[in-house]
Amino acid sequence: MSTDTATSVSPETHPFQAEIRQLLDIVIHSLYTDKEIFLRELVSNASDALEKVRHEFLVKTDLRGASDELKINIIVDKDAKVVTIQDNGIGMTRQELTDNIGTIARSGTKQFLSQATSAAKGGDLHLIGQFGVGFYSAFMVAKKVTVETLSLAADAEGCVWESEGTGSYTIAPKAGLSRGTRITLQLKDDAGEFAEEWRIKSIIQKFSNFVPFPIEVDGEKVNTVQAIWTRNKSEVTDEEYNEFYKFLSNDHEGPRYRLHFVAESPISIRALLFVPKDNAERFGMGRQDPGVDLYCRKVMIQKHPENLLPEWMRFVKGLIDSDDLPLNISRETLQDSALIRKLSKVITGRFLKFLSEESQRDPVAFDEFHNTFGRFLKEGAVSDYANRDELVKLLRVETSFTEPGKKTTLTEYVSRMKDGQKGIYYINGPSREAIEAGPYVEALRAREYEVIYNLDQIDDFVFDHLNEFEGKPLLSADKGDLDLPPIDVKEGEELSGEDAGALCGWMKSHFGDRIGTVRASKRLVNNPGLIVTEGHFTATMQRLMAAMKQSGPAETDGKSLTLEINPRHALIRKINDLRVNDEAFAGQLADQLADNAMLAAGLLTDPRAMVERLNKLLSKAAGV
Ligand code: ADP
Ligand code: MG
Repeated sequence: MSTDTATSVSPETHPFQAEIRQLLDIVIHSLYTDKEIFLRELVSNASDALEKVRHEFLVKTDLRGASDELKINIIVDKDAKVVTIQDNGIGMTRQELTDNIGTIARSGTKQFLSQATSAAKGGDLHLIGQFGVGFYSAFMVAKKVTVETLSLAADAEGCVWESEGTGSYTIAPKAGLSRGTRITLQLKDDAGEFAEEWRIKSIIQKFSNFVPFPIEVDGEKVNTVQAIWTRNKSEVTDEEYNEFYKFLSNDHEGPRYRLHFVAESPISIRALLFVPKDNAERFGMGRQDPGVDLYCRKVMIQKHPENLLPEWMRFVKGLIDSDDLPLNISRETLQDSALIRKLSKVITGRFLKFLSEESQRDPVAFDEFHNTFGRFLKEGAVSDYANRDELVKLLRVETSFTEPGKKTTLTEYVSRMKDGQKGIYYINGPSREAIEAGPYVEALRAREYEVIYNLDQIDDFVFDHLNEFEGKPLLSADKGDLDLPPIDVKEGEELSGEDAGALCGWMKSHFGDRIGTVRASKRLVNNPGLIVTEGHFTATMQRLMAAMKQSGPAETDGKSLTLEINPRHALIRKINDLRVNDEAFAGQLADQLADNAMLAAGLLTDPRAMVERLNKLLSKAAGV
């Protein structure tokens, strides 16, 4: 390291990247009242840096300062209104400093901005840490922030970063630093309370009591370092669990569920898992990172490793501690370790069993869980083959047999199936009312078959992918090949087979390429016609695919559509007469019939021609 003085090199000034400027603007000018969370964020960064250096020491022993006690030091100067947070963690190189603080648009910045701008007036800034931009919360209380840091890396030089949180920051080399990071906050005039020793101590006790390194305030240790997951369950209070959860997850409220379990075989595991009250991916806030840390004998091996648990479990927070892991396991070998796979299997299985038990113990609470996190279970049902059956059993569905808003399970559905019923029927729609008014369920209802109402578009995708449950096929009611047993029809009220065939042929040639097939339906009861899809995709999925196309309303491919007509319906019998006596009028009625069926299927993208025709038909009906 060079020994010349820092003042001999003048600092370079860099502008903040635009999104960071916006973010700082919100942070600086917010009227947010819980400004104390800045300390939680800076301490949590210091703790992360200490975890990293501890891990490096386990892997390599000949490193700078390997024998130091790892800790966080906070020093306050009440008169000068200065607070300093220092750690002897991993530090940052100059490159890391520029990358981590101020320039690169970290993925969370945009999401945080959209969340915070709507909540800026006294709103949700406590979430800042969850978006990976916690550092900037320092500017809620500080008019100037100075970061001095020296990385563990052998050839690193010390650096000092400074900013007043407006347009830019400066960066310069600095000699004489020891390993780690020191953050100095020159407090704003109205934030002097944060240079009071008692205030800092009480904030640490509130938010950072579980930090696994000693925190000293003016030389006095204020936290009790403890690993509550290694204690006996009966000795840990609900309050301790909740506080620990809040600490782990940066959540401001307690968890929805908690699972603390210990296993000795096939491997030794202590795990503490939590399900939050809220789903952080709601409102399109983007995909979450995993939330479970990996420990070996109370020492963190890795924070939030990928591939530890199946992806659908990313909403779960907590940690897993196993004595069987080698302490110095590297992050690379973590990826494809047989031990990790075993760990994952045991924990996933235990977690699913826990959810199943909870669903029995308190069905109402489980329904709420399902409403909030059901999408993750569905994602698991299609992606986690090994746990598919258990996941599907946890799904809850509304059906024609449940009361509106109430839900049932697929297992219960199967237990209610009628003799001769070929499978589990489902249909997608925007609401229960819309589905029940539509033409698809009447044939199933007439046979007293239960129909699952999929009110979430993703459900059709899931059911199509699952294909079956407990050996029973999952059948979409808008597919063409519903092989239903016949029901009684009164004599003389149905077109003859010959007439029906001729009418279908005439309609098909009238429609041309708009409709692939026209045929007489066995399923329809009160409706004159409906559209079914013959190919692999249900109408819902065609709708989804059309919606995903970039430009304009996409046309559905007519070839895959079948119009089923009801030969028992008076209108159909009338069209059959008219096609001989008044073909033009019969054509108009057939077109309208087809459009009505398209509308019910959700596939009519451009209603203009339909409206024009409907007006003509109205005029005719009114005799004008
Ligand atoms: P997050 O902690 O979620 O990554 P922050 O905005 O709190 O987001 O911190 C940004 C990054 O700055 C951290 O990921 C880390 O790389 C770096 N950093 C912040 N504080 C420290 C510190 N005390 N020691 C080392 N690196 C730090
Ligand atoms: Mg942070």
